[in-house]
Amino acid sequence: MTGKNQITVTSPLLPDLEEFNALLREIWDSQWITNNGSFHKKLEAALCEYLKVPYISLFTNGTLPLLTALQALRITGEVITTPYSFVATTHSIWWNNCKPVFIDIDPATGNIDPDKIEAAITPKTSAIMPVHVYGKPCDTQRIKEIADKYGLKVIYDAAHAFGVEVNGESILNAGDLSTLSFHATKVFNTIEGGAMVMHDAETKKRIDYLKNFGFAGETEVVGPGINSKMDEVRSAYGLLNLQQVDAAIEARHQVAIRYREALRGVSGITFFDDMPGVRHNYSYFPIFVDAEEYGMTRDELYFKMKRNGVLGRRYFYPLISTFSTYRGLPSATPENLPKAQKMADSVICLPMHHNLSSSDLDQILSLILR
Ligand SMILES: *Cc1c(COP(=O)(O)O)cnc(C)c1O
Repeated sequence: MTGKNQITVTSPLLPDLEEFNALLREIWDSQWITNNGSFHKKLEAALCEYLKVPYISLFTNGTLPLLTALQALRITGEVITTPYSFVATTHSIWWNNCKPVFIDIDPATGNIDPDKIEAAITPKTSAIMPVHVYGKPCDTQRIKEIADKYGLKVIYDAAHAFGVEVNGESILNAGDLSTLSFHATKVFNTIEGGAMVMHDAETKKRIDYLKNFGFAGETEVVGPGINSKMDEVRSAYGLLNLQQVDAAIEARHQVAIRYREALRGVSGITFFDDMPGVRHNYSYFPIFVDAEEYGMTRDELYFKMKRNGVLGRRYFYPLISTFSTYRGLPSATPENLPKAQKMADSVICLPMHHNLSSSDLDQILSLILR
């Protein structure tokens, strides 16, 4: 709940203020506030362990690792991606002077449909940028087979997939590189923040150069780098949040259980169930409204909820391919993307966070169940 008696779609996971103050005292005492300080190093080590990944590089948000991943792999030409995501995915391709090529999604997951990839490949294609939408794992095996066959790189936008595992293995180890967002609205946050996951020490070194203007030493610059360093204050904040993220994920899991029990069998409302062998993070709880069966359109339900103080969000509506920057692209046509369009037109993400009370859930569900 917020001060205005509204139930918001998310609520930031905040560290205990006393504990945070103690770490701030350490930072003040050290007089080292950014540039790979001790909290930065500690957070990278702690994240590698928690996420079960070999190497990670912290960033100042979740968009810059996307931009930097494309730079690092020297991606050019065309990049195959999904229109059903947050705009930053496509923007990162555009900012690299590459052409986004949209393909349709698999409605069973919301992720790109691997069966649509091959037909979109041209001699200019150099990479695939899929998204684990809502933290649901992409078919990484199929995508890898296709990428290997055509010599393409794969960069996963894993902004939603913090802590997601398939058969005990981190989803973040798939592809050439994966990126995370630690924005306030995500399962794990450092207020603003992000990271890139890579497979080897050489790549981490190069990424660390690139996020620090390309500096490889006091006087040597190895490439057109950018500034995307995470500071000590947010690294310390992240270390504290990491200690409570499992509890937050479990609280979200309980919310998902409650939603599913209440909504299963409601005519015209569908949602995703857990996938076998997957450790989910319950980052979002999207429902899909079939207007005819439910007797109300998605927007009618969305605005009814809003009038009654329940702020869902229409993630991801509108489709990225419909924004002015991208709608002129040959792949942006509605005929090419019918399933993504249908999902965008029917989705509402219900409030989903660690702080929802039982009465919050009653209030939310009463508006949907009628
Ligand atoms: C949040 C998000 C981003 C961007 O992350 P920021 O930390 O806000 O820059 C990128 N891609 C997806 C899919 C996201 O949800």
